[in-house]
Amino acid sequence: MNTAFWKRKRLTDLSPEEWEKICCRCGRCCLVKLQDETTDEVYYTRIICRYFNIENHSCLEYQNRCRLVPKCLKITPQNINSLTWMPQTCAYRILNETGDLPPWHPLKGGHNIPSLPQNLTPDILVAEQDMEDYIIEDEEW
Ligand code: SF4
Ligand code: SF4
Repeated sequence: MNTAFWKRKRLTDLSPEEWEKICCRCGRCCLVKLQDETTDEVYYTRIICRYFNIENHSCLEYQNRCRLVPKCLKITPQNINSLTWMPQTCAYRILNETGDLPPWHPLKGGHNIPSLPQNLTPDILVAEQDMEDYIIEDEEW
């Protein structure tokens, strides 16, 4: 039996196409995050990037994303270790930390990708000083 490519290869040896397939398009990393300046703790909010298409879970500006949204980082095998704010459920994070994908991942035949919070608001509609009001409480996440 062939070993799955994500288990057989190191992250740095994955082709660009294989790397893209690891993302399950949950969209959780496209939520606005706020960082406490004192504790450095990161809080996720119910505000989502204006370019995220909630209907089909895709980025409307994927090719231009890093230019249009300076905070939108390109996730790579080289930086995944340092992106400690990535959602615990991120497939890249899980693969990097465990060497395998979770059972719910589409590449494993799963269908239960991590959900997004209810009542999302596009970032374009929220003033920066109001963003704290949208922080997701633990029990909601
Ligand atoms: S530009 Fe696209 S990939 Fe980047 S945060 Fe927005 S929706 Fe997500
Ligand atoms: S959190 Fe990870 S798996 Fe989900 S969309 Fe972002 S990069 Fe992809």
